[in-house]
Amino acid sequence: MIVVMQTAAEKEQVEGVETKLAGMGFAPHRIQGTGRVVIGAVGESKIVFPTGLEVLPGVEKVVPISAPYKLVSREVKENGSIVKIGDIRIGGDEIVVMAGPCAVESEEQLMTIAGLVKAAGAQVLRGGAYKPRSSPYSFQGLELDGLKMLNRAREETGLKIVTEVLNPQEVELVADYTDVIQIGARNMQNFSLLREVGRTGMPVMLKRGLAATLEEWLMAAEYILAEDNFQVILCERGIRTFETSTRSTLDISAIPQAKSMTHLPVIADPCHSSGTWRLASPLSRAAIAAGADGLLIEVHHQPSEALCDGPQSLAPEKFSRLLFSLQPVAEAVGRRVCTGEDLSMTGGV
Ligand code: PEP
Ligand code: MN
Repeated sequence: MIVVMQTAAEKEQVEGVETKLAGMGFAPHRIQGTGRVVIGAVGESKIVFPTGLEVLPGVEKVVPISAPYKLVSREVKENGSIVKIGDIRIGGDEIVVMAGPCAVESEEQLMTIAGLVKAAGAQVLRGGAYKPRSSPYSFQGLELDGLKMLNRAREETGLKIVTEVLNPQEVELVADYTDVIQIGARNMQNFSLLREVGRTGMPVMLKRGLAATLEEWLMAAEYILAEDNFQVILCERGIRTFETSTRSTLDISAIPQAKSMTHLPVIADPCHSSGTWRLASPLSRAAIAAGADGLLIEVHHQPSEALCDGPQSLAPEKFSRLLFSLQPVAEAVGRRVCTGEDLSMTGGV
C-alpha cells in the first residue's frame, strides 16, 4: 500500500507514519513526489482496511497497490523518475546514449574507442570487464585490469562508466570503479545479486532477461528498490522468439508498456537484440519513437577484430551517423539527442 501525505504534512508527521508502519511489520520507503511525500509500505504483513493510518495527522489517504510489484509501480509514483549519473539525467528530455565495446580488450582499444564515442556525442562509456559468455572457452574479460582501464578512460575523457557485475562477491569491487552497475540479461533473476547491487545505492542498469515477462522484469527491479535504491534504469535488450534471422527480437511494445507500468526510465539496446550493426540505426530510431529514454550501443574501432560481439558493433563513423539520424525522431516526440562531431566527415576510422 501507499500512504499519501498531505501537501502541508510536516517532517514529524511523515516520521510518525513511518514509525507506525514499521511497528505494523512493514518496511516504509519515503518517496518525494511533486509537492508531497508518499510512503510506500511493503512487506509480508497482511493489510487490513481500514489500517488505522488514515486518521494519523498529516495523512491524506491510504491506497492499496494492486500490482504485484510495489515500489517500481506507477501507482506509487505518478511522474517518471530521473536517474542521475553525476549531472547526466536519464528519464528527462535528453536521450542519453551509452556506447563502447562489448568487452574491454586492452588499454589502447578502450582509450581509442572512448575518445571516438565521446567525440560522436555519447555521454556514458560501456565496456565489460567481466563477460557472461555462453561458452566457458570464450574470452571472459580482463576482470580487475579491465576495471582499472575503465577508470582511466573515465579520468581521461570525463565519460561516465557502465559495466557489468556477474556475482554478489564482486559487487563492492565493481562499484569502486564504475558509475552505473550493469546487471545482464542472464542475471536478471539472480536475486542475491540484485539485493547486493541494491545495497550500494548506486545507479543500476537492469537488462531484461532473455525470456522474461514484463512482470518478471519489474519484480526483479523491485528487489533493488526494496533495498531503498530507487536509482534503476531498465534496459530492453530483446527477447527469445521463434525468429532466427536476428539474434533476439527487440520488443518495441515493451518500451511504452513498461513505462506505463513503472516510473523507472527505460532504455533500449539495439545491438544485443538484433545481433547485427545493420539494424542498430532503425531499431534505435524505433525505440526513441516508442519513448525510450536512452540507448546502449556497441561500438568498436575494428569490429572485425573484436574479441566479443564484433558483428553487432558499429564502427565509430557509423555510430556518429546513427546519432545524427536520431535527432528528427527525438524532436518529433519532444526529446533531443546530444550529437557531437560527424566522424564520417573527418574520415572516421
Ligand atoms: C552486454 O551488454 O555486453 C551483454 C552481455 O548484454 P546482455 O546481458 O543483454 O546479453
Ligand atoms: Mn556484447
